[in-house]
Amino acid sequence: MRIAALLAALAFAAPATLAQPAAAPPRFATTKVADNVYVFRMLGHQAMFVVTPDGVIATDPLGFVDKKGGETYLAEIRRITSAPVKYVVYSHHHYDHIAGGKPFKDAGATFVAHRNAHRHLAALRNPEIVLPDQLVDERSTIELGGTRLDLLWVGRNHSDNSLVMLLPKERIVFTVDWIPLQAVLFRDLPDGFLPDWFDGLDRVLALDWDRMIPGHPGPGGRLGTKDDVRALKAYMNDVSEAARQLAAEGKCLNDEAMAAVRLPKYESWGAYSLFLARNVERFCEYWGRGY
Ligand SMILES: [Zn+2]
Repeated sequence: MRIAALLAALAFAAPATLAQPAAAPPRFATTKVADNVYVFRMLGHQAMFVVTPDGVIATDPLGFVDKKGGETYLAEIRRITSAPVKYVVYSHHHYDHIAGGKPFKDAGATFVAHRNAHRHLAALRNPEIVLPDQLVDERSTIELGGTRLDLLWVGRNHSDNSLVMLLPKERIVFTVDWIPLQAVLFRDLPDGFLPDWFDGLDRVLALDWDRMIPGHPGPGGRLGTKDDVRALKAYMNDVSEAARQLAAEGKCLNDEAMAAVRLPKYESWGAYSLFLARNVERFCEYWGRGY
């Protein structure tokens, strides 16, 4: 009691000029982005779900960074509709986006992913991960309760099984990990494919859409536009050109030379200081050693 009173007195006596720490954003949030389209965010990951009178199409069940991600996601859907979750579509097979599938499976959802995602997951045999039931090759369409969702494989990029999910009527696209918004690419592009990635960006630009939901929140939680895709392509071209020069100078195994690359245009982008040198290294492998 006395300690509590003392703490209260101290808090009361704290100088008003002391800056209050900024309130941490809530652990998770669900945001409506169109009449029937929502974004579920858990910490730094997010997924799209579509609500129709005949059921819900969910994507990426998350549940890796926070083990309760899948349960929480399903509970958030349940706050909006009691319609069954008919489908769970994986954007790609990386665990951090799909580990929380079990509650959805128990609720009877059909899991959909690219054929290569199934191949990887079947080989990895991670007991936490629900294997997909239906497989997509080049493209597929889910029609449910008056909503159409196109699942498009636009080649290899951040994995060999990324599906672009397009809502043609709502003009919304959901892409995960391979088109970050105002952020450099992750580390040295693990599981990534060059130069195919560039072709995929062109294919996404050629689709009809206005807003992009990313798998990791953009600055201030904003959605993306085609300008973001063009900006990423320009960034990747700039990194590629810098690496090509290093390769020409025989410096692609020189850590200091790679770390010295600066691209000031992108200084304000997420993870610039953290990952630029790693991004350069990946392109150095391409130009310097052919892979
Ligand atoms: Zn990934």
